[in-house]
Amino acid sequence: MNTTNQSPDTEKTKESLNFIEAIIEEDIREGRNDGKVHTRFPPEPNGYLHIGHAKSICLNFGLAEKYHGKCNLRFDDTNPVKEEEEYVESIKEDIHWLGFRWEGEPRYASDYFEQLYEWAEMLIQKGLAYVDDQPAAVIAAQRGTPTEPGIISPYRNRTMEENLQLFREMREGKYRDGEKVLRAKIDMSSPNMHMRDPVMYRILHEHHHRTGNKWCIYPMYDFAHGQSDYIEGITHSVCTLEFEVHRPLYDWFLDQIVTGPYRPRQIEFARLNLSYTVMSKRKLLELVEKKIVNGWDDPRMPTISGLRRRGYTPDSIRNFADRIGVAKRDNVIDVALLEHAVREDLNKTALRYMVVLKPLKVTLTNYPEDQTEQLETINNPEDPEAGTRTVPFARELYIEQDDFMEDPPKKFFRLAPGREVRLKSAYIIKCEEVVKNDRGEIFELKCTYDPETRSGSGATRKVKGTLHWVSASHALDVEVRLYDRLFNDPDPAGHKDKDFKEFLNPDSLKILKDCKAEPALATAKKGDHYQFQRIGYFTVDPDSTENHPVFNRTVPLRDAWARISKNSNR
Ligand code: ATP
Ligand code: MG
Repeated sequence: MNTTNQSPDTEKTKESLNFIEAIIEEDIREGRNDGKVHTRFPPEPNGYLHIGHAKSICLNFGLAEKYHGKCNLRFDDTNPVKEEEEYVESIKEDIHWLGFRWEGEPRYASDYFEQLYEWAEMLIQKGLAYVDDQPAAVIAAQRGTPTEPGIISPYRNRTMEENLQLFREMREGKYRDGEKVLRAKIDMSSPNMHMRDPVMYRILHEHHHRTGNKWCIYPMYDFAHGQSDYIEGITHSVCTLEFEVHRPLYDWFLDQIVTGPYRPRQIEFARLNLSYTVMSKRKLLELVEKKIVNGWDDPRMPTISGLRRRGYTPDSIRNFADRIGVAKRDNVIDVALLEHAVREDLNKTALRYMVVLKPLKVTLTNYPEDQTEQLETINNPEDPEAGTRTVPFARELYIEQDDFMEDPPKKFFRLAPGREVRLKSAYIIKCEEVVKNDRGEIFELKCTYDPETRSGSGATRKVKGTLHWVSASHALDVEVRLYDRLFNDPDPAGHKDKDFKEFLNPDSLKILKDCKAEPALATAKKGDHYQFQRIGYFTVDPDSTENHPVFNRTVPLRDAWARISKNSNR
């Protein structure tokens, strides 16, 4: 293989190329488009980006990076009805946050409306487009079926002059919405339905978020996309599989305008589907509009802004996108893989803190009443650079209610009457007495501590369980929001007779208002990531204030117990 400077590490990566990279490397070898690679990410600004878009972003920007090419951001804003500036801003923010930079300024398909219009007139002049007066429903009914040819429109043989005049009048606003359309004159008996005289322009007297009221005719996606690629010098127009059947039309329109050797090429890959997730913008919008979630950035949403608020990191999403690769056939990826990716990333970087979600008071009867010790603890065992900090220890503490059982089964290694556990980075304690209120509920444990067992003092006595804890008088009161999957069915949108909303997980959000955190978390800043020991990964929610800190759970620790028992002598 002869390597050009556009294909780095060719020898190393030869076997692991995905099929799109293989196509690109062949194009480079053959010198197509002068060996250049220029991709684009083309969102329609009609909703917030989701994890599926993130896949497409990582792919398009990733290809440009790999082949020292460029990647444009282009808003595909050909439909004035559903598009809004709010979406444009959120899309830019999300791409930046993922760590990608587009080439130059963002582009808009609407910047090309004039050029597209001129090409439409050119097609009319070539006898390759005509104005049809029939309503949309009639045109649709005449399309035929894949096995039966379509019906030829009675307006198909209008003269070029008449077509040109009518099309100009359409632009001037002489007709009402739906009164006329411009169609390409291709082949009403093509086995590909998209080639049966597809609509190029429709009349929409609508305000456009960028062109205002300048236009009342708008190009269809198929008449805009390939041409926009061509205008921008895109070489590889990567899109999802549903556009495979549009490719002959993409090429047909290009055939009419391409003059030199440069030409964009459409390549399709399988869209990302995730289990336990809905990804259709229409369904996501419904969840927002019906207030089933708290907005597009609700941490349960699969949107990039939701994942960010949930505590996902750009690296975790990029690693996930990399790992799932590029498929040619539709498939479903297990959402656990995404959760694994964020756990893996946060495990490396998140500092460990102790937070008690459901506090149970513990009094150490043999600990001096007015004493406080500052005990040293490791910030992140995975990162020696992260250092240590101190945690205050005193006579009154909190542990988790779940870490105590009055009548425990054999394998319960946490606290129980007469049993011992280690308090993380502190001492071994023993439960001496259970105190209950008059309703018979446990509200306090009286314990003793063994002063000879302080962590790090070289003490060798081991016990099976290690618990996290917080000193009662030093504790910070925090709110914790435990997020879980939004749906409790692997394929919520895949049931024929049932609405996807029937599969909402009633436990997708639990708010705990009386959690106790170690005081060091007082300095937590929005967007910071933490591991709450034995519980999971958390981030500071934007709702958080100094007086009322709020933490979101990103993911639980999958295997808290295995990890903790490994470290139980610390
Ligand atoms: P719409 O139905 O509104 O067109 P869309 O999800 O296709 O929805 P676009 O804004 O058109 O949204 O998508 C921008 C780009 O992201 C397109 O290239 C599209 O193919 C890609 N994309 C969208 N959804 C996914 C997905 N689930 N997996 C991978 N790529 C996706
Ligand atoms: Mg789309």
